[in-house]
Amino acid sequence: MRLAIAALAAMTFTTGAVAQGTAPLFATTKVEGTDNVYIFRYQGHQAMFVVTPAGVIATDPIAYGRPQAAVTYVDEIKKITKAPIKFLIYSHHHYDHAAGGKPFKDAGATVIAHNQAKARLTKLKGKDVVVPDQGVGNKHTIRLGGTVLELHYTGRNHSDSSLVMFLPKEKIIFAVDFNTLGAVPSRLAVNDSYPIEWEASLKKTLALKWDRQIPGHPGPNGRLGTRQDMEQQLAFMTALSDEIKKASDAGKCFSPADAEVKLPQYSTMTGYEQNLPWNLHRWCGYWGRGI
Ligand SMILES: [Zn+2]
Repeated sequence: MRLAIAALAAMTFTTGAVAQGTAPLFATTKVEGTDNVYIFRYQGHQAMFVVTPAGVIATDPIAYGRPQAAVTYVDEIKKITKAPIKFLIYSHHHYDHAAGGKPFKDAGATVIAHNQAKARLTKLKGKDVVVPDQGVGNKHTIRLGGTVLELHYTGRNHSDSSLVMFLPKEKIIFAVDFNTLGAVPSRLAVNDSYPIEWEASLKKTLALKWDRQIPGHPGPNGRLGTRQDMEQQLAFMTALSDEIKKASDAGKCFSPADAEVKLPQYSTMTGYEQNLPWNLHRWCGYWGRGI
């Protein structure tokens, strides 16, 4: 049952071998063109880690409902370096990314997240979720063994606690769940989301000087995200919001807008048919009911 749910969750975000279940359970890969930036994938989730001579900066334990994923993650890091794991940074507070940090904490890592993630996780006391040691605000810079990693809070989007982790030298960001690489956001992606502010957050993220995005779920055929993906997502959300605002003004939210509104110019995006209704529902809630 748990496996079935995990597989389904993966399918909502990913395409290719991972979604089809033909990929190995986990994989660690070095990001092309970098000396020390890695991706650890376990089933349909993935996280970035950076190896420096002075220690490792890890992100998202991705071990919700499968504590062995975090044990494997730490083992994979140890195969690459003997340097200690200094930091574990959560991309946001949702359990499928943040749960399972104990092996990192046991290895001596300081756990960092946005202030809102720390506040929520302190209150929620979720199973197997390590409460962050340190909360950060709008910007925080980590310097370790010659690597600079900037943590940027670009506002509320898919959650109210999403951090963009930016490697300025490598021009890479690790950004999770709020930019979905050519896919219409899924039910889980819009459930806890902030319409309008999400668009502003994408604009602020685009203002950073990055070329490639490591996503929290493998992209199509495992590829990384591009600025074009994020621009497309922003355009999709702007069109969605405009159409729903019109429907709401005409008294059509939730029904019949949830059946009538279509965005044919985005119909080639992955998951359009399946996921559009969740987006209509969320945006109708926002414009029609102030939710
Ligand atoms: Zn999430």
